[in-house]
Amino acid sequence: MRKLWQNKRRLGYLPIALACFLVAVVAGWTAIATRIDNYVYDWMWQMSPPAPHVAQSLIVAIDGPTYKTMGGVGRYRTMVAAALEHLQTAQPKVVAVDILLTDPGDDAAQNARLAKAMCATRNLVLVADLVKDTWDDPLPEFQSCAQAVGHDTSDEDSRDGVTRVLPLEKRTARERHWALSLEAFRLPQKLPIVESPDDLRIGEETIPAPLTPGNDRPLRVVYNGDIPLLSLADLVANPALSRRAAGKAVFIGVTDLSATRDRVRTPLREMPGVEVHAHAYETLAGNWFLVEAPALAAPAVCLGIALLTAAIFAFYSGWRAYVPSLALLAAVHYAPFLLFRQGIVFPYFGPLSTVWLGLAGAAAYQLLFVRGQLRHSEAERTRYRQAFQWVTHEMRSPLTAIQGSSELMGRYNLSEEKRKQIADMINSESKRLARMIQTFLDVERLSEGHIGLKREPFAAEEVIETCVNRVRPQAERKEIQVHIAEHLNGELNGDRELMEYAVFNLLTNAVKYSPTRTEILVTSEARGDELRISVKDQGIGVDSKELKSIFQKFYRTKRAEASGEAGSGIGLSIVEQIVKVHGGTMEVTSELGKGSCFTMVLPALIRV
Ligand code: ADP
Repeated sequence: MRKLWQNKRRLGYLPIALACFLVAVVAGWTAIATRIDNYVYDWMWQMSPPAPHVAQSLIVAIDGPTYKTMGGVGRYRTMVAAALEHLQTAQPKVVAVDILLTDPGDDAAQNARLAKAMCATRNLVLVADLVKDTWDDPLPEFQSCAQAVGHDTSDEDSRDGVTRVLPLEKRTARERHWALSLEAFRLPQKLPIVESPDDLRIGEETIPAPLTPGNDRPLRVVYNGDIPLLSLADLVANPALSRRAAGKAVFIGVTDLSATRDRVRTPLREMPGVEVHAHAYETLAGNWFLVEAPALAAPAVCLGIALLTAAIFAFYSGWRAYVPSLALLAAVHYAPFLLFRQGIVFPYFGPLSTVWLGLAGAAAYQLLFVRGQLRHSEAERTRYRQAFQWVTHEMRSPLTAIQGSSELMGRYNLSEEKRKQIADMINSESKRLARMIQTFLDVERLSEGHIGLKREPFAAEEVIETCVNRVRPQAERKEIQVHIAEHLNGELNGDRELMEYAVFNLLTNAVKYSPTRTEILVTSEARGDELRISVKDQGIGVDSKELKSIFQKFYRTKRAEASGEAGSGIGLSIVEQIVKVHGGTMEVTSELGKGSCFTMVLPALIRV
C-alpha cells in the first residue's frame, strides 16, 4: 500500500516535468527567446573571443584622411582606380571592391581610368546590390574586367539589427550571386563551388552553410581579432606601403563611419560593412566555423533536463535534492559557453527556462505533497487520540456499574434474588464493555480499510428494539419518550454489531440534543430494494449551513456546544462510515429549534 502510494507520488512528477518542457520549448520559439539567445551569443563573443590569429586579409580604407586629400564622395572612382594601380605591383591574392559602381557617372575619363586599372588587376571581385528583387550590377565596362561579382548584403533578418550571420547566397528569380567574401575566397583557388543541401564545398574545404527556408545559406561570421587597415591616403602618399598587400585578400571599401551608410552592428562593435566582409573572408579562410546545433538537439536536451528535474525531486528531498538541483542549474547555465568554445551554437533560453521551470515545479509539488502528508498524518493522530478519549469516557459507565454492584455484593448480605439480579447486571455490563472495545477496534480497522465485514441477515426491527431498550434509561432521565413505529419492516445483510452501534449512536444523539419532555420516533421501512431506518427527534436541530459538516470527524455544531451536551464529534462520522461500508448513504433533515431526522438509507435484503 505504502509502496503504491509512493510510486503514485513519484509518477506525479512526470506530468509536471512534461508540462514544463512543453512550455519551455514553445516559449523558446518566441521572438523574445530569440532576442535572449542572441543577447547571450553576443555576450559570449565579448566574454570569450577566440584567440586572435594572423589575418589573411587587408582593408584598403577610404577613410577621413582619404576624403580630405582625394576629394569627396563624388571621387570614388578615382580613389578605387588609384588603389588598384598602387596594388598591382604587390600582387595581392585577390582584390574585392566593396563599392557600388552601378551608375554611369558623369566623368568618362574617370570611368576609363578605373576600367583600365580593373582589367590590369588579377582576381578582381566587384559587388552587385539587390534592390527590390532585381540585381543592380556594376557597369558592363567594369564587370567585363572582373572575374566575379558578389553580393554585399549582410544580416537582414536580424530583428535587432546586429549582424551575426551573412547570407552566402542571394538569388532573384533570374540570377544568383554568392557573397563577396565567398567569391574572394574561391577565386584565387580557381575551384568551383559544389552545393549540397547541408553545405558548400570548395576543393577540400567544407563550409557548413545549410539551405534555409529563405535559401540564403547563412554563415555565422567569426569576428576574430582585428583586420589590418591601410588608409588609401597613406598608400597614395607612400606607394611602398603596397607591399603589405602581397599575397593577401584585399578589400577596398569606405571605413569612415560618418560618411558611409554602410555601418553595421556586430556582436563585438559597430564596424563598416567592408570590415564585416573581411571578417567573413577570415572565417572561410581560417576554416573555423560556428555551427548551429541540430534542430532536434535543443528539444531533446530540454526533455532530458525536465526528466532530470523530476527524477531529482521524485527520489530525493531536502538538501539531497537541492545539491543536485544546483549542480544541474550550473551545468545548464555553463554548457552553452563550453559548446560555443567548441564552435557549436546552442540555444540558451530553452534549456534555461526548462531547468528553472522544472526545478520550481518539482520543488513546489514536493512541498505540497510533504505538507499534504503531514496534514494527513496529523489529522490521523488527532482522530485516534480523540477516538481513544471517547472510548475511555464511554467505558466509565459500565465500569462504574460493575464496580458498584460488585461492592454491594461483597459488603451486604443480599437475598438470593437480589444477588442474581446484580450478577446478571454485571454480566450484561461487562458484555457491553467487551462489545464497546470490539466496536472501537472494528471502527479503527474500518477507517484503515482493513476490516472484512461480517455478512449475516438480520431484521431491522431486532436491532432497533435492542438499541431503544439500551437508550431508555438515559431518555427517562430527561423524561423523553422513545417510540418505535408500529410497523417496522425490512431485513438487512450485514454486520449486526456495527449496525447496532450506528442506530444506538443516532438514538443517544437524539436524546442528548433534545430538551426534556420531548419525543423520539424510530421507524424502519423497506421500499423495494431500499431500507430506510430513521430516528426523528424534537431537539435543538442543526443549522442548514452546518448540515454538511456534521459528518466530518470532530465537527460539533455551535448550538450543541452551547447546550453543554456535545461530545467528541466522531460518532456521526463513524455512523456514516458504517452505512457506507454497507453500501448505503445518510440523509438528514433538520429545523432549528424543532428537531432533526437522521435516516440511514441501506440496501434491503430481498428474499426470493
Ligand atoms: P458528538 O459526540 O459531538 O455528539 P457526533 O458526531 O455524534 O458527535 O455529532 C456531531 C455533531 O452533530 C454534534 O456535536 C451535534 O452538534 C450535531 N448533532 C448530532 N446529532 C444531532 C441531533 N439529533 N440534533 C442536533 N444536533 C445533532
